[in-house]
Amino acid sequence: MHPLQKYSVIPRLPESLSSLWDLAYNFLFSWKNEIQEFFAQMDPDLWAQSHHNPVWFLNHLPQAVLEELAKDTFFLDRLEELTLLQERYNSDTSTTIPLHSPDKGPVVAYFSAEYGVSLALPIYSGGLGILAGDHLKSASDLNIPLVAVGLCYQQGYFNQYLTHDGWQQERYPYNDFDQMPLSLVRGDNNSPLYISLNMQGLELTFQIWQARIGRIFLYLLDTNVPNNPQEFKNITAQLYGGDLQMRIRQEILLGIGGIKALHAMGLHPKVIHMNEGHSAFAGLERIRIFMHEHQLSFEAALELVASSSVFTTHTPVPAGNDRFPPNLMQQYFEGYANDLGLAFKVFLALGRENPRDDTETFCMTVLALKLSRFNNGVSKLHGKVSRSMWKKVWPQYPVEDVPIKSITNGIHIQTWIAPDIAYLMRRYMGSTWQDNPHTDRIWSKALTIPDAELWRTHERLRERLVDFARKRLKQQVMARGGRRMELQIAEEVLDPQTLTIGFARRFASYKRAYLLLRDKDRLLSLLDNSKAPIQFVIAGKAHPRDNEGKKIIQQLVQLCKETECRGRIVFIEDYDMEIASYLVQGCDVWLNTPRRPLEACGTSGMKAMINGALNMSTLDGWWAEAYRPDNSLGWAIGQGEEYADNEYQDFVESQIMFNILEKDIVPLFYAKDKGNLPREWIKKMKAQFAALGSVYNGHRMVEEYARKAYMPAFTNYTRLTEDNFAAAKDLSAWRMDLMTKWSNLRIRNVQSTTELELYVDEQIEVTAEIQINGLRPQDIQVEIYAGPLDHEGGFTARKTAPMQPAGELGDGWQLYRGTVSPMHSGKFGYTVRILPSHPLLLDPHSLGLIHWA
Ligand SMILES: *Cc1c(COP(=O)(O)O)cnc(C)c1O
Repeated sequence: MHPLQKYSVIPRLPESLSSLWDLAYNFLFSWKNEIQEFFAQMDPDLWAQSHHNPVWFLNHLPQAVLEELAKDTFFLDRLEELTLLQERYNSDTSTTIPLHSPDKGPVVAYFSAEYGVSLALPIYSGGLGILAGDHLKSASDLNIPLVAVGLCYQQGYFNQYLTHDGWQQERYPYNDFDQMPLSLVRGDNNSPLYISLNMQGLELTFQIWQARIGRIFLYLLDTNVPNNPQEFKNITAQLYGGDLQMRIRQEILLGIGGIKALHAMGLHPKVIHMNEGHSAFAGLERIRIFMHEHQLSFEAALELVASSSVFTTHTPVPAGNDRFPPNLMQQYFEGYANDLGLAFKVFLALGRENPRDDTETFCMTVLALKLSRFNNGVSKLHGKVSRSMWKKVWPQYPVEDVPIKSITNGIHIQTWIAPDIAYLMRRYMGSTWQDNPHTDRIWSKALTIPDAELWRTHERLRERLVDFARKRLKQQVMARGGRRMELQIAEEVLDPQTLTIGFARRFASYKRAYLLLRDKDRLLSLLDNSKAPIQFVIAGKAHPRDNEGKKIIQQLVQLCKETECRGRIVFIEDYDMEIASYLVQGCDVWLNTPRRPLEACGTSGMKAMINGALNMSTLDGWWAEAYRPDNSLGWAIGQGEEYADNEYQDFVESQIMFNILEKDIVPLFYAKDKGNLPREWIKKMKAQFAALGSVYNGHRMVEEYARKAYMPAFTNYTRLTEDNFAAAKDLSAWRMDLMTKWSNLRIRNVQSTTELELYVDEQIEVTAEIQINGLRPQDIQVEIYAGPLDHEGGFTARKTAPMQPAGELGDGWQLYRGTVSPMHSGKFGYTVRILPSHPLLLDPHSLGLIHWA
C-alpha cells in the first residue's frame, strides 16, 4: 500500500533559533570544531544518531527542547557568536593567490566522482574522495575561486557489517537528500532546475543538489527525477556499483552533465581540474561547446581546452584505470564524434595509447592525459611510476620527459587534528598557526611544546580511542544478537596504557593487511608480553566483489577471537571518517604495508602524523619522501625494494616489520624516565611536526596546484580566447602546420670540437645542422641532451642545454650551436634533439613531437 500524497514534516524552529539553519547548511561545521560541538551538546545521543548531520538532527529535536533552548540566553549568545564566526568566514575575501576572473565568477571547476567531506555526506569510498573533500576545504580557507562537481548517490557507498564468522556483508542505506545539508538548485519559476543530455539517443534528465563547503559550492548531480525511466534513475544509485554500462553512464553524467550543469547555472569556469580520469568526458564537452558556440575548429578547441585543463591521476594499479571496449563506446559516442566532426576511429584514438591499434580499449586516463597540458601524480614516487606507466602515450620520449609531474597530496589539518592537539599548537605555535600551516617557521615552534603536556594530551586521546572502540564493539555484538558474555568482553577490550597500533584502510590486496598474520607466533608473543605489550585496532572495508579482501578480514576477525589475542586485537566495523578520526588521533603507531609502488600517496599516515602518531610503513607513496633514514620521524619497512616474487616479499617484509616492533618500537615506547615520560618517543613526535607539518597539508597542496597548474592554465585561457579566440586559432594553425612539416625535419653533422677526454669543468661545444623544412627558428627548440652513461651506454641521468641558431646554410639548413658540461667524472655522452616551441605551449613535450639525432 502506498500513500496518495507524501509530506515532509519539519519542526517549527522558534524565530530566535532560525540562524541554526545557517550553521546546519554549511559543511563548515565539519572542520570548525566549535560548531560541531555546539550541535553535539544540544543532545549528544541524537547527534551521534544523526551521523553528525545537523539538518537531520534539527529536524529530529523534540519541539519541547527547541522551545527550551529558545529561552536559554547562554545558548542564544553562543549561537550568535558562532553565526558571526561563520559570517565572517564566508565574507572574508582575502587571499594570497592572485587568481581572479574578470567576471568575478569561479576560475576553476573541480571534478571528482566522490567526495569525503563529512560523515553526514556519505558519497565517498576511500582516499580519493577524502582527498577531494580536503581539497575543497583548503581551497575554501585559501579563498581560491573554485566550484566543484560530483554525483549525488542515493545509496552512497555500502555500510559494512560482519556475520558471526567474520564474513563481510553490505548494507546500502538510502540517503534522504532533503534531510541532509543540501539544497536543490532551482530555476526561474522556483521549480527544480532540470537539465538534459543525450544518452544512447534517449533523453536523460537530472537535477542538481548544492552543498556549501565553507566558501566553496559543490554541485552534485542526481538522475533520480520523475521523468527518467528506472534504469536512468539508477545511474546515481550507487558509488562504483554496477557494470561497465553503469560506469560509462555515470562518467558521461559527471563529465558531460557536469559541464552542462555549470553552464545552466550561469557559471563559466576557465580552468577544469579532473580529479582522476572518471570525469575526462568533461574535456570533450568543453571542446564541443567551443566548436559550436565560437565556430572553432576541433583542433583549435582542443588546444584551448587542453591548455586550460589540469589532470591528476591517482592509481598505479592498472585495474583502477577505466577502460571501455570500442563497441561500448560506439553505443554512446558515435553521434557525439560526428558532432565533433571526427571519424569514429579518430575519436577512439583520443583514448588509446597506440592510436593505430583498433583493438585497444578506450582508456579514460589516456583521454584525460591527451585533453590536459598539466598532468600530475600524487607523490614524487607516484609521479615517476605514472611517467613509466603512461610512456606509450608519448612514444618517442625518454621516460623522464613524459609530461606527468607530481604534486604530493596533503590533508586538511583542521578536519583531522584532535582539538586537544590543536589547542596545544595554538598555545605554543601562535594563534594564527592554522591560517598558515604551510610555513616552516611556524612548525619549528612545535619543538617548544613541553614533553609532559604533549604526552598527557596524547594519552587522553588514546583513552578516548579505547573508549570509542569498546562502545562500537558493544554495538556490533548487540546488532548480531550476541550473548551477555560477549558484551562483557567488548566492555573490557584494549587497555588505555598499552602501545596501540592502528591499521585502517580499504582491504585492497596491494595494501596487504595480511602481513600481520604471516608470523602468528611472533605476533602472539608481542601481544602477550606482560611488561611491554602491544595492541591493534583494525578497520576497513573490502570491495563487495573482492572475496580475497573479505577472506583477509575474516582471518583477522577470527584472530581477534582467539583467547591469546582477545582484547588485544579488535576489528571495528564500517570504516568511515569518524572511525578514521578516532584512530589517527588515538594511536601511537600508524602501520601501513602497501606493496611498493602501488600506493599512489596514502593520506591516513599524514592524519596520524599531525596528531603525533609515528608511522611505520613500507617506503611507498608519501612515506617514500617523508621518511628519514635515521628513523628520527618514524620507521621504514625495508628500503624501498621491489620484488619479482610476491610471496617472498611478503615473508621478508613481515619479518622486518616484527623486527622493528620488537627491537625498536616496543623498547622505545616503554623506556620511561622519572617523570614517567618516554622522552625519545616524544622527541620523534615533535620532530615530525617540525619536519613534516608544513608540507603534508592541504593548504600547501592547493597552493601548489594554484601556482603550478591553475594560474598558468588560466593565463593560457585568457590569452587564447582574447580577440575572439585569435590565439587559439593561431596555435592550432601553427600546430597543424608543424605536424605536416615535422616528419621532414632532419638533423645532420652533429659535431663537437672537444677531445674525447676532458676535465670535469671543461665545456663541450656542440654544433649541428638542422633542416627546418620551412618552419621558423622560433617554432622549434633544438637541445643538447646529455648525461652520464651506464656500462651499456645508456643515459643514467640527463640534463638539457639549448642550442642557438648560428647561421643559414642554404636549402632550409640551419647551423645550431650550444655547449654542455659534464656533471661529474666518468663516462659521459650527449645527443641532439628538436622539440616544438610556442609561447602558449605549457610544456613542449605535450604535443608528443620530437626528433632525435
Ligand atoms: C584518510 C582516509 C582514507 C585514505 O587513507 P589511505 O591512507 O589512502 O588508506 C580512506 N578512508 C577513510 C575513511 C579515510 O579517512
